[in-house]
Amino acid sequence: MPRRKTVFVDADILVVGGGMGGCGATYESRYWGRDLKIVCVEKANIERSGAVAQGLYAINCYMGMHWNENQPEDHVRYARNDLMGLVREDLGYDIARHVDATVHKFEEWGLPIMRDPKTGRYQREGKWQIMIHGESYKPIVAEAACKAASEVYNRIMVTHLLMDEARPNRVAGAVGFNVRTGDFYVFCAKAVIVAAGGASHIFKPRAVGEGMGRTWYAPWSSASAYALPILAGAKMTQMENRIVLTRFKDGYGPVGAYFLHLKTYTQNAYGQDYEAFWHDSIEKMVGDYVNHHPVPTCLRNHALLEEVKAGRGPIRMVTKEAFQDPHKETVGWENFLGMTIGQAVVWASQNIDPKEINPELTTSEPYVMGSHATCSGAWASGPEDYAPTDYQWGYNRMMTVEGLFGAGDAIGGSAHKFSSGSFTEGRIAGKAAVRYVNEIGREQPVVSEAEYEELKTVIYKPLENYRIGRNEIVAGTVSPSYLLPLHGLQRLEKIMDEYVGGISAHYTTNEPLLMRGLELLGMLKEDLAHLGAEDLHQLQRAWELHHRVLASECVTQHTLFRTETRWPGYYYRADHPKLDDQDWHCFTLSRYHRHSGKWTMEKAPVYHIID
Ligand SMILES: Cc1cc2nc3c(=O)[nH]c(=O)nc-3n(C[C@H](O)[C@H](O)[C@H](O)COP(=O)(O)OP(=O)(O)OC[C@H]3O[C@@H](n4cnc5c(N)ncnc54)[C@H](O)[C@@H]3O)c2cc1C
Repeated sequence: MPRRKTVFVDADILVVGGGMGGCGATYESRYWGRDLKIVCVEKANIERSGAVAQGLYAINCYMGMHWNENQPEDHVRYARNDLMGLVREDLGYDIARHVDATVHKFEEWGLPIMRDPKTGRYQREGKWQIMIHGESYKPIVAEAACKAASEVYNRIMVTHLLMDEARPNRVAGAVGFNVRTGDFYVFCAKAVIVAAGGASHIFKPRAVGEGMGRTWYAPWSSASAYALPILAGAKMTQMENRIVLTRFKDGYGPVGAYFLHLKTYTQNAYGQDYEAFWHDSIEKMVGDYVNHHPVPTCLRNHALLEEVKAGRGPIRMVTKEAFQDPHKETVGWENFLGMTIGQAVVWASQNIDPKEINPELTTSEPYVMGSHATCSGAWASGPEDYAPTDYQWGYNRMMTVEGLFGAGDAIGGSAHKFSSGSFTEGRIAGKAAVRYVNEIGREQPVVSEAEYEELKTVIYKPLENYRIGRNEIVAGTVSPSYLLPLHGLQRLEKIMDEYVGGISAHYTTNEPLLMRGLELLGMLKEDLAHLGAEDLHQLQRAWELHHRVLASECVTQHTLFRTETRWPGYYYRADHPKLDDQDWHCFTLSRYHRHSGKWTMEKAPVYHIID
């Protein structure tokens, strides 16, 4: 094997992932830590990385407090009901009270935000959403982060966090490799902020074969935000709370602007409104949550799924009426051009003109993420002035590992952050990390040479497996002694799909299925030692797979632990088909013990701070 160069980087604050949360963390860390060394490390290039890479057409979290449109308390109530009662109200409130200031900064930095010509206010798409010309949203935000950072390292995939030799529960940095040069990187840092996005490609996607990259969530969101803290021993929360999206069929085009701004609506194959039909049966399953406005996202999914099961599909979005209005027609198309061009291309390729044909909707495979309409992620300490004592053990947004912070999809319990809220949470985490470094984390943690040297061997092992194993190939590409990352990924997706509630199981699972799923995941984990990577790109795929598998195991453990069906429409525990507020009006927490490979599970209370 070629000798790999090792590059050492010292930092006061290390930000892992330069998406919305990471850019916010980098920007704010500089504001409060003028003399600190702030380093941002990103596996792609932060100018076009993360879930916002191809742009957005709306900012989905904006209060409009100075126009008295909404107050933070209103947003907490909204998120709480949408998540069937279970949110960290302290974290949600903390973001909501600061998010407007973030959006005003975006505008100052050059993001074109649409204005209502009559009122002069930001153009609303819905109660919480404002409309933007957002094709360049990410480059604009990244520019601010680049100016704030001491150094930005692009094209480095972080694979593991490092722990302090002196204090085993304190983070000390991270290691990874440059996906272009192959150099090995050792980052030593006093505080680390993980903002490495959510997880797609954990469950088998609807589009397979040549279309497997066509997922709703960014295909490169590979669960690092979860795997990195899990491996470091951080507690995770609500990992069972995977998200399923109702989207335009085959292109996963967003429906928000259609429902909210264009006022389009859905109907079944026979032109009937079906949601009201399912109301009573849903009420029997989940109680009063269905009677609130807006009806929780998962329950609307549930109605759609039941209608299709009843044989009255496909479900269509009624666009023909709205598209007669030229303004609405323009908005409908621009919405895709600003954020999901692929949907426009799919419609063109399938002869769908939404003015003439009502397009079909479908539900996606499940994803794991903490910033959209679900709240999987790390269990984090809350704001000092607002969090109940059970939610406070350190600095704001610090995980249960000392010096380890998070933002965006990485932090659990606080749904509906979206792009602006994730950036805001990055700012909150950045400010707290600076305080941590200044107050108690001043001394540099001790990084063990033996630890990072061992990791270096482990990280590059798939290249070696390939180099040796390919000699055994007699035809084709399949070697008896290694597993290609793609094959490992497909095996993972199949297990999760069939045992943990994916599309082919109608999102349904039960205890025996979950137990078998865990056994199969255990076997897959063993085989990961035999991954073979033919080049650095495949090496990245190999480590993405490692992260996905660990996050999947965590999802499965949580799904097993929560013996109820809390979010019908996201997933069903067939052996516990109802919502059970008496036993499960709580958060689920897990902790992974990396030396034994075992998980411990516990419950944590949900405090309702806002009436
Ligand atoms: C399809 C879709 C539509 C959406 N629509 C909207 C919308 O209309 N309005 C809105 O406000 N929000 C929207 N969102 C939500 C918004 O994009 C997310 O809330 C936000 O991007 C989350 O921020 P984050 O920092 O957690 O993750 P991201 O922004 O995804 O950033 C994660 C970053 O970490 C990097 N990374 C990952 N792993 C590693 C690693 N191992 N090492 C180094 N770097 C790594 C990634 O490359 C990426 O740059 C949408 C999201 C999706 C997926």
